[in-house]
Amino acid sequence: MSNIKVMDENLANKIAAGEVVERCFNVVKELVENSIDASSKTIEVNLLDSGVKEVAVLDDGIGMDREDAKLAFQRHATSKLKTLDDLFHLDSLGFRGEALPSIAAVSLVELKTSKNGVGTYLRINGGVIEEVSSCDLEQGTTIRVQKLFYNTPVRLKYLKNLYAELAVITDYMNKMALSYPNIQFKLTNNDKELLHTQGDGNLLKVIYAIYGVDVAKKMIALNDQDDDYVISGYISYPEMARSSRNVITTLVNGRVIKNNELNRVILDAYHTYIPKDRNPIVVLNIDVDPILIDINIHPQKMDIKFSKFEELKELIYQAISKELKKALLIPHASVRDMRTYYEIEDSLPDVSFSSSSPKEDVITTTEPITEIQFNFEETTQNDIGEEKEEETRIKEMFPIGIVHKTYIIAENDDGMYLIDQHAAAERYNYEKWLEKLREDHHEQTDLLVPLRLEYPKDDYIKILERKDILKDIGIDIEEFGEHSFIVRSHPTWFKEGYEKDAIQKIIEIVLEKGEFQKEKFLDRTAATLACRMSIKANDYISLEEAKKVLDDLRTCENPFTCPHGRPTIIAYSNYELEKMFKRVMD
Ligand code: ZN
Ligand code: ZN
Repeated sequence: MSNIKVMDENLANKIAAGEVVERCFNVVKELVENSIDASSKTIEVNLLDSGVKEVAVLDDGIGMDREDAKLAFQRHATSKLKTLDDLFHLDSLGFRGEALPSIAAVSLVELKTSKNGVGTYLRINGGVIEEVSSCDLEQGTTIRVQKLFYNTPVRLKYLKNLYAELAVITDYMNKMALSYPNIQFKLTNNDKELLHTQGDGNLLKVIYAIYGVDVAKKMIALNDQDDDYVISGYISYPEMARSSRNVITTLVNGRVIKNNELNRVILDAYHTYIPKDRNPIVVLNIDVDPILIDINIHPQKMDIKFSKFEELKELIYQAISKELKKALLIPHASVRDMRTYYEIEDSLPDVSFSSSSPKEDVITTTEPITEIQFNFEETTQNDIGEEKEEETRIKEMFPIGIVHKTYIIAENDDGMYLIDQHAAAERYNYEKWLEKLREDHHEQTDLLVPLRLEYPKDDYIKILERKDILKDIGIDIEEFGEHSFIVRSHPTWFKEGYEKDAIQKIIEIVLEKGEFQKEKFLDRTAATLACRMSIKANDYISLEEAKKVLDDLRTCENPFTCPHGRPTIIAYSNYELEKMFKRVMD
């Protein structure tokens, strides 16, 4: 190749680099995926200054001979990806061949690689191969990318945003570790360890390495299948929910995908168990014959279409709902510091870096695995079922007082409980009324004074259109004048004094934008009415009434959270009480 030709190619690489390699993250991704393609069992990524100063990737994969090594840095030399199908047959991670020359064009690259015991050393500066020689590497590939973007104006932009860059890289490495539990991943930045997995194939251990022991202890194994799909993975107890969306990881045939609709199904299954703005920690693997999926890939994101999508969604929804029902327990007050789980979690460093404040200590997994009593054996579904079912039942509780007209203090032989009187009553009414709303026949009571409701013209028309929805739940509206209605009766279960409020609220829900879905509408209605027509915080109730709230709560299908996902009850076992007062030592 003549010098002139090399210069041209180099220029082309530099231009292309702007598109393919925009940031340190792209470099890490490319190199790590090369390592995976090379069948590595260990992949170590060491960054200096989030990768701006240096990205080093060390693996123990199959390596390259001298010719391959040189070719790897030439454009279009190694387009491994032949068809899109290859991607999901998992031989290759795609998009090879473009990125390496681009990376080399904007940095100083040092490569050591070994094939059949013969080591090769390569130094490429700004896209120009400066040195090719032998080296004594035994196995695998070590690649060091330094001074990234040193010869382009892009560099400045990144120097300002090191923390954000590290966040993206860490998130990516976490997802790779979850995708490949059989590979040992290590990530450091300026010698600080951010991730270290064992690579022994145990997904729960990967979750432990990423999220720490508290989360790993609170994960439930998920396994289910239908004719076309096999789903597996782990879902967290509701109290482990995080504010970051990043904690939901979905894999298809072992590859991370992003699909908002699947995320929504997962959140739906957690509906009423966790607050709206929170997300459960979920690692969901979907195994499917590649024939049943259609993949559309861009370098930045991946779009995937499933055939029999409705069946898949139902499978996921049912599997998660079933496990949650089996596993739900009362949150126990933390003896350590008496805060609720939500607060404890908020004070932990967020692995996914959703907060913008720079933190040095990003992930704390310092507790050695041997010190905690925690079994990483994959629990079979039966184990969980039997063990938890026993604990799920709430024993009868006896109220002994009410704090701030809001929290019922109760006791039984097992310990002491704090119950949020509104949340508890709300949960009971929500479940009861949802059942009522679902009935076909509705007993009605006449209003003493018929209710006249007036609406702006557009709302009026919409209400008329959706009149049958109201009729279906026992509210008959009659047109009355130009844009008003008369309501003469209502379902008997409406709380006295709240009839007008209830009807108006329901009509508001009917008027909500979006496609009408019956089950969602009934759910919203039950939750809204339960919130408005239940005992409230600051309502005075007697101990007898408190007892009824407690007894009602025990009959609920999910007594542990209100319909908005807040806890109804916090438990202090006798042992925990004794520990708090130092009557017992550990
Ligand atoms: Zn409420
Ligand atoms: Zn609530």
